[in-house]
Amino acid sequence: MNPRGTRLLVDALAFAAYKHRLQRRKDPEASPYINHPIALAHVLTDEAGMTNARLLAAAILHDTIEDTETTYEELRERFGKTIAGVVREVSDDTTLPKAERKRLQIEHAEHLSRRARLVKLADKICNVRDVAANAPHDWPLARRREYFDWAKAVVDRIRGTNKNLERAFDEAYAGRP
Ligand code: NDP
Ligand code: ZN
Repeated sequence: MNPRGTRLLVDALAFAAYKHRLQRRKDPEASPYINHPIALAHVLTDEAGMTNARLLAAAILHDTIEDTETTYEELRERFGKTIAGVVREVSDDTTLPKAERKRLQIEHAEHLSRRARLVKLADKICNVRDVAANAPHDWPLARRREYFDWAKAVVDRIRGTNKNLERAFDEAYAGRP
């Protein structure tokens, strides 16, 4: 990777780590939130061979708009229009009720740009793996299954994007509880 790409990635890591610094995931150990964006970037590099710095930066930043007070404008100023745009594409409208947000993710998936689809696939792979191995302790079987099926409904709308990621998702889905 060229020095500019390396600087961009480290800057994205520093920014995301700061923005998520007080948050924890919902697994029983309450893992640091930043583990999740790092896991997405790792899936993209390690399992799909992706090395594009802007794609990886967008993966690292993917939950900043949705889950912290970060705005699109702030991302655009610091990381440029392309990365900010991908993060905005994969962000739910948090003013909507949960069920509506879930329905819209399925509906909007096929309209995502290629980079946003790759981030979305990595996000669903990571979350389904988390639900399989480290689900929130208060999620009954029905809710874990519902999560798997919803994630698959989103992924089914963007098939044909990347075979390695789709295979990784299908392998994770095969472990549906
Ligand atoms: P949440 O949206 O509350 O939680 C799932 C999200 O939390 C993931 O998409 C992920 O998002 C994040 N997350 C953080 N830590 C973990 C972890 N360890 N494992 C998995 N995900 C984690 O829950 P639901 O997706 O279930 O959404 C709520 C919906 O659930 C409602 O629409 C309702 O219909 C339904 N529901 C079902 C119940 C049931 O028992 N069947 C009970 C209550 C609600 P990210 O990557 O963005 O951080
Ligand atoms: Zn996520």
